[in-house]
Amino acid sequence: MSVDNQHFEISKQKEYLYVIKENISLVHPAYTNDPLNMYLLLGSHTALLLDTGCGLSPLKPIVDHVIGERKLIVFNTHYHWDHPLGNVEFGEVYIHENEVDNVSKPYDVSFLKDSPNEIVKIYAKQNFQIPPAKTIKTLKDGDVFDLGEIEIKIIHCPGHSPGSICLLTSTGELFTTDVAYYGDQFLPKKENFPEVLNTLSKLITLSEKQKNLELYPSHRNYPCDKTLLTDLYKGIENLENLWDTKIMFDFFEMWQIDDDKFRYYISQT
Ligand SMILES: [Zn+2]
Repeated sequence: MSVDNQHFEISKQKEYLYVIKENISLVHPAYTNDPLNMYLLLGSHTALLLDTGCGLSPLKPIVDHVIGERKLIVFNTHYHWDHPLGNVEFGEVYIHENEVDNVSKPYDVSFLKDSPNEIVKIYAKQNFQIPPAKTIKTLKDGDVFDLGEIEIKIIHCPGHSPGSICLLTSTGELFTTDVAYYGDQFLPKKENFPEVLNTLSKLITLSEKQKNLELYPSHRNYPCDKTLLTDLYKGIENLENLWDTKIMFDFFEMWQIDDDKFRYYISQT
C-alpha cells in the first residue's frame, strides 16, 4: 500500500494494525524521541486512530485511504503537544476526562518559537495557536469500545500526565502510549513518582496475567517485550539514589538524570 506523503511514514504491522510515524525532532531538535508512533487499528466495522500528531501535514487523507468504508473514531493518548495537534482535521476526538480542558481550546505552541527548524513556520502562520477539534468526548478507566472483532479497553494510567491512558486489545496488544517506551522519559515532579510507579505496577500485573502480550509504545521502537515495564519501574525507583547527579536542562526547565537504560527529564514544579 502506498500513500504519497513525504511527512509521515506508514507501515502495515499486521492485517488489522497500521503504524503512522512522524519525526518530532523536525519541529525542534530538543525532542529526541523519534519517531512518534500513531496507530490505526482496523476492526470489521470501525477503525481507531490513536493520536493525531504534530499537525504539520494532512493526516486524514492517509487515514481515510487505509480505513475504506469503516467508521472512524479518534483518541488522544494524552494532551502533550506532539499527540493532539492534528485534532482539528477530525470532527470529534476522545481524550481522558482529566485532560478535556487541555485540548478543548487553541493549543499554545509558542514555546517552539525559537526552533532553528524551518517547519515551525507552519505554526507561525497560525500565530502558534493550533485550533482544536470541534467536539471533544471523554474517556474513563474501564471504557470498552467494540471495533468489530477487536475490543479495546481503556486503562487510566496517570503519571506521565494526569489523563494518560493505555489501551488493551482483545487481540493481545497493549498500547503503552507515553507511559512506557525505550527513550528519553518525561516525568512529573519527584513527589509524584509514587503515582508513576503505581501505574507501572498496575501494567506489570496485567502483563503477567496475559501471555504473549505485545507492547506498542507511542515513541521509538515497537513492539516491545513486557520487560520494558520492569526496566522502567526499576529505573524510576532508583532515581532517588541518583538524585545528586541531576543537572538542569534549560530548554525544558527540567532536571535531567541519566542511567544506563534511560535519560529522565523531571519536572521541577
Ligand atoms: Zn510524546
